[in-house]
Amino acid sequence: MEFIKEELTSLKQYGIYRDLKTMVESQAPRTMVNGKKCILLSSNNYLGLTEHPDLITAARNAISIWGTGAGGSRLISGNFRIHEELEETIAHFKNTESAIVFNSGYMANMGTITALAGKEDIIFSDELNHASIIDGCRLSRAKTRIYPHKNTGVLEKLLQKSTGYRRRLIVTDGVFSMDGDLAPLPRLVDLAEKYNAVLMVDDAHATGVLGRRGAGSAEHFGLEGKITIQMGTLSKAIGSTGGYVAGSHDLINYLRNKARSFIFSTALPPSVIATGLEAFRVLQKYPRIRENLHNNAFYLRTGLTQMGFTILSEESPIIPVLIGDANKTIQMAQLLFSLGVFTPGIRPPTVPPGTSRVRVTVMATHTREELDTALHAFAQAGQTLGVI
Ligand code: PMP
Repeated sequence: MEFIKEELTSLKQYGIYRDLKTMVESQAPRTMVNGKKCILLSSNNYLGLTEHPDLITAARNAISIWGTGAGGSRLISGNFRIHEELEETIAHFKNTESAIVFNSGYMANMGTITALAGKEDIIFSDELNHASIIDGCRLSRAKTRIYPHKNTGVLEKLLQKSTGYRRRLIVTDGVFSMDGDLAPLPRLVDLAEKYNAVLMVDDAHATGVLGRRGAGSAEHFGLEGKITIQMGTLSKAIGSTGGYVAGSHDLINYLRNKARSFIFSTALPPSVIATGLEAFRVLQKYPRIRENLHNNAFYLRTGLTQMGFTILSEESPIIPVLIGDANKTIQMAQLLFSLGVFTPGIRPPTVPPGTSRVRVTVMATHTREELDTALHAFAQAGQTLGVI
């Protein structure tokens, strides 16, 4: 086992050793982080639903009705009425025939990609796609072609060149997690049609966020019915846990039969399912929550830009503030923390060298006063470090 010590030492030498040095008390806009009261600008709880009283009540009620655990996989004895109700709700929300819930977004991507592609197939994947897509591609053993970020010109050339494969799958994040930018979906839909490929979109950061009803990227671009496989997670804006895939009846029946991460894992507990279900009700009942999110994102993005910061995204609640140098990014994050703002510094290898950034995420539940306090801290830290 010496190699473990050696590997850990090497990670430390290269400054990329990870540990759990951050402990939070909740996902509220203002919370305790490592014992210090902070404005939390790093949560994917975009709509603030993890704190919503209706979701909390739904979880409590579900536990009192169904107990704490599912006790089996969906296909054996862990399938409760509420699991099916959630899947029907997601299908309705996404405007698809059917939907399937996995235990996480990670498992949804892994299970779906490996079920759809094998050795005789080819996958085209954006270079900034999430790790769970990358791992799904690897595990599938399909030929994988990575195209430069959002570069549909290169993608088209790759599609033209790759003949002789059984199936072709194009897979992309809808909103990219580290950059907060949107995939060029209209063009991807065209290319998928033109070159007879299946398009799969990971809406982890778009579910509950983008589109008129918050239904995600397809709704945002007016492409409902055009994207064959829509994947997403219930762990971010939806305030719960779990992944989903929405699509045709055939696709979902196929995944129930072929997706190993669905078949061989115990179902999510009814309380988790109940929170997800309640979140979709809340989303519909209180459209103001989403409005607040977009207003807050606009306010913070505009404020930071006016101060002279470079922001990498234009329209999502992920607001990456470019710092460039890796050490300066960490100093920036530390300085912000000392000023009562928690937001993580992201460095290589997570992002390319020279593009280190502070990854700000905003929530619907941040008050104007909290955002102003955060902006003030950014101005102070940015000036101290010579970033602005
Ligand atoms: N896809 C993307 C784009 C993500 O950002 C994430 C979460 N970081 C996932 C998938 C995985 O989702 P989950 O956290 O529900 O496993």
